[in-house]
Amino acid sequence: MSVNRNKSPSVNASDDPPFALVESPCALCGETAATPCASGTDFEYDTTDHEFQFVQCQSCAHQYLKPRPAPSEMDRIYPSHYYSFVGTSNPLVARLQRLWESRKVKLYRTWVGEGPRRILDVGCGDGRFLELLRDFGSSEWKLGGLESDINAVARCRERGFDAHSERIEEFALRADERGQYDAVIMLQLIEHVENPSRLAAQVFELLRAGGLFIIETPHLGGLDYTFFQGRHWGHYHFPRHFHLFSESALRQMLEKNGFEIVQHEFLISTSSWIISTHNYLKDRGWPAPVWRFFSYQNPILLALAVVMDTVRIRLGGTTSNQRVVAKRQDGPSERTQGLDLPNDDAAASLA
Ligand SMILES: [Zn+2]
Repeated sequence: MSVNRNKSPSVNASDDPPFALVESPCALCGETAATPCASGTDFEYDTTDHEFQFVQCQSCAHQYLKPRPAPSEMDRIYPSHYYSFVGTSNPLVARLQRLWESRKVKLYRTWVGEGPRRILDVGCGDGRFLELLRDFGSSEWKLGGLESDINAVARCRERGFDAHSERIEEFALRADERGQYDAVIMLQLIEHVENPSRLAAQVFELLRAGGLFIIETPHLGGLDYTFFQGRHWGHYHFPRHFHLFSESALRQMLEKNGFEIVQHEFLISTSSWIISTHNYLKDRGWPAPVWRFFSYQNPILLALAVVMDTVRIRLGGTTSNQRVVAKRQDGPSERTQGLDLPNDDAAASLA
């Protein structure tokens, strides 16, 4: 993901101007009626003290942030020390992360296949995951990325990847890119964009027939969700997550856009238990050293979270993280007709 990371962190919420918000209907079905289901503020980064609200669509039950931050607030809600910009500073956590993600790439290898496959990582940042794909994937894969932050694109290119700083809306319209990809990957990104359904339609255009769209995104479920839903659950990530998907909402959105679901599975959610506890303790007024202990950089807590979710998955339960592998079916999707219309999708600044 990418936003302007050159700005200084805006942590002094009380000095900031009023928070700019925009209203929107449900991005999955267009319904405007919705019922509040959770509220909270930016417990993690203190970029604002505004209280936000997640609602549930009264027509399709999808949960989304309403109202959500205006595009003009993106620099404010993604401060320069946002975790996906700076990575982890703990070498042990970094090593475990690399080990874990190398296993993920081996799975991708079975889905995408060997040979000269073209793969696009949307929201590729500085190319960290592309590097894992190169190190642990097929040597013949042709790897590229989309990222709106030009500094990150430059770093990505230095690493040897075919990276572009275009918005996916424009990229998906390029004749030389449409229908060219064997796989498009989107990791923990789709929940941040204004209109995930439109984004899926754009990905459809980039894939060749039978190409794969691989998404990892939070899931409205798991024990941590059961305990912390309504306010403190880490995946609300107020106000940066605009959408939270149930398994069925994610499937339906993809099917509506011309995809067939090949595989769906629940994944370990390394940060949710830790961040949810952090949010709870902070919101309840516990001393700062107590809630600061609950950091996603804490290797002991991460290990505990991994064990807890692994047991849960082995027992056939759900977790608060999911992956779907969807295949582009032949023929145009019903949602690709309006691709050339102008839009204001914040995926723009994120993807
Ligand atoms: Zn809806």
